[in-house]
Amino acid sequence: MEGNRCHVVVVGGGIAGLAAAWYLRQGGEGVRVTVLDGARRIGGKLHAVEVAGVPVDAGAEAVLARRPEGVDLARAVGLAGELRDPGTARAAVLTRGALRPLPGGQVMGVPSDLAALAGTGILSPGGLARVPLDRILSPTLVTTDVSVASYVRARMGGEVVERLVEPVLGGVYAGRADRLSLEATMPRVAAAARFERSLLVAAREIAAEAPKDAGPVFTTLRQGMGTLPGAVAAASGAEIRTGVTVRELHRTENGWRLVTGPVPAPEVIEADAVIVAVPAPPASRLLAGEVPRAASELARIAYASMAVVTLAYPRRAFPRPPAGSGYLVPPVDGRPVKAATFSSVKWPHLAEAHPGLLLLRCSIGRLGEEALLQRDDAELAALAVAEIAGVTGARGLPLDSRVTRWGGSLPQYDVGHLDRVARIRAAVAGVPGLALCGAAYDGVGVPACVSTARTAAARILDHLGSARQWQRGDDSPRNLLKKG
Ligand SMILES: Cc1cc2nc3c(=O)[nH]c(=O)nc-3n(C[C@H](O)[C@H](O)[C@H](O)COP(=O)(O)OP(=O)(O)OC[C@H]3O[C@@H](n4cnc5c(N)ncnc54)[C@H](O)[C@@H]3O)c2cc1C
Repeated sequence: MEGNRCHVVVVGGGIAGLAAAWYLRQGGEGVRVTVLDGARRIGGKLHAVEVAGVPVDAGAEAVLARRPEGVDLARAVGLAGELRDPGTARAAVLTRGALRPLPGGQVMGVPSDLAALAGTGILSPGGLARVPLDRILSPTLVTTDVSVASYVRARMGGEVVERLVEPVLGGVYAGRADRLSLEATMPRVAAAARFERSLLVAAREIAAEAPKDAGPVFTTLRQGMGTLPGAVAAASGAEIRTGVTVRELHRTENGWRLVTGPVPAPEVIEADAVIVAVPAPPASRLLAGEVPRAASELARIAYASMAVVTLAYPRRAFPRPPAGSGYLVPPVDGRPVKAATFSSVKWPHLAEAHPGLLLLRCSIGRLGEEALLQRDDAELAALAVAEIAGVTGARGLPLDSRVTRWGGSLPQYDVGHLDRVARIRAAVAGVPGLALCGAAYDGVGVPACVSTARTAAARILDHLGSARQWQRGDDSPRNLLKKG
């Protein structure tokens, strides 16, 4: 506490940490906020790079528009005029030797319309014939959390898992359906599974609830989602320090002490409260001393690694520009590229600003495919170029390419994830002046991260409000607690 101002330190300057700083600012002038990030830049997984002189997202490239938190934050920090809609949301699955449209009405890859599914050719005739057995099979008992694969396979057969659900989950989590939690990754399906026998019927009902005229599902920013962190940081009024890795976190008489800097020359920072907005592994290390129960749960959250290869071709390299927003690849098809985005097709503002270029991005690597990522940048770029040539007919080499590695970047919401998060929160609830936020908890997408940031900031503002009342009584919260 300095004069009448409290000091809150946010550890981690990804979108969650920056959003937390912005929400703290909404609590009034009585809070001074410092954001510390170990990297040389803020933004974490929101990062634009230059390819052929064009700023393009190398991390998150879109934000769900049907959930308000991400878009609302962009508007609140002055980026309303920068929001851009996609030109198409038509995505495909590259499987069984061809690009095939994702069936209309699918819910995280679970089909809801048999005719639409049949028209895509994604499943073999045998796989397709298995799906409607879902309507007559005896119920699949779901009393606790189960893996997505086990439930969907039981209802609709293995091919739906392999050729539809796997690529969709791979696109979001870079994860595997036999590990990922039904409750955490498909909450609506999990809820329906408890009372609705047929998964087809449940998926149809969930798909029907999607608003028909609510505009596009996703949106982005004109210069890339990578411009959001800077705008949020500026609007937060926080002091932003990069290249500052927090190594230790200790409770003190009145708050918290953070240790940063090299071991021989540590820097100590005092704070009234702390928000830990880093991925689970560093969060676990930071909390090991003060909240060991939370730390050990955090340590159990696995992360997948991946790489994004961005390619810029002359438009004339394509006999026909690729159609749709891009495609996903099922692991069973054994291709190194797990997804490709036709950025210049998906985002018309990119094509308008750079009409001579065709920008694409390829994602490489899922959980368990780490060996693939051990190749050097040139090899990964070559894999992506060969893939794009094979799938789209692109001739020649790209004008420019860029490989961005995202090691340990996507948390895996394994079976039991929601219970684990509940245990982490219960452990932290008893610790005054500490809150957590970020992608490890309630969703990996930007809106979910922003939502955890808002909750964390509210918890800290509540705590500081009570702490102030205590201090007016001339005593610190910790002293009062000690007096019992
Ligand atoms: C390639 C890729 C594509 C994606 N695409 C999308 C998409 O299109 N749409 C979408 O909604 N989501 C997408 N996501 C997911 C989303 O981008 C992330 O889940 C989200 O940005 C995570 O934000 P965060 O603040 O929780 O964590 P991070 O972005 O990981 O930020 C954490 C920060 O903490 C810092 N840090 C770590 N340890 C310390 C320490 N000890 N001391 C100080 N600082 C530390 C790091 O340097 C980092 O800046 C994508 C993710 C990836 C990897």
